Amino acid sequence: MSLFNPKHRNALHSRITIALYRITQAIDSLFRERGRLMGLSPAQIQSLLFLKYARPGVRTIGGLTDRLGVTYATSSDVVNALEAKRLIKRIRSREDQRVVALRLTPKGEEKVGMLEDVLDEIEAAVNALPEAEQTTLLRATQAVVLRLQHAGYVKVYDMCWNCDFFQKDAHPNDPHGPHHCAFVDAPLSEANSYLECPDFVPVEKLE
Ligand code: SF4
Repeated sequence: MSLFNPKHRNALHSRITIALYRITQAIDSLFRERGRLMGLSPAQIQSLLFLKYARPGVRTIGGLTDRLGVTYATSSDVVNALEAKRLIKRIRSREDQRVVALRLTPKGEEKVGMLEDVLDEIEAAVNALPEAEQTTLLRATQAVVLRLQHAGYVKVYDMCWNCDFFQKDAHPNDPHGPHHCAFVDAPLSEANSYLECPDFVPVEKLE
């Protein structure tokens, strides 16, 4: 049964699925519109946001490949294009010359600043709902995302404060790394604890 056929959309779950599909179309459209204005493709926009908000260790072409869900060759092309626009640069690691990190240039940082509000229309539409409906919607969409995550269709990146591996104030005498990540078994700075990480595991899911 095809949900794309309007005759098959009577059931509640079918109508919700189509509504979610339309929201993804709106998000695509917002990214494309902003990209046109700024001379960036949607993949380039996502890459700039990734390089601003992902934890430093994953700001590489491999990390970007995972984040975009594309091949290594495709993410390399995106990186080449952003480098040609002088929005990012490659930095070779001092410890391991084989590792090349990606970093935003000041011009790239400025571009990211102009992207921060790209989802404002979606947020405003959600915020127009009564608070009780927002709470229900949050719980329901989180459950859907979790199922899709387990099925391998979405990778959830989030910050340390909601992660089961996070140990708050584990090193109270270390001003550069007061917290601890049990996943990589290393201290975490306050600033890095607010970045997105692909190894994030939600607290309540590991019981
Ligand atoms: S695994 Fe968890 S605690 Fe460790 S860096 Fe990632 S989000 Fe933070």
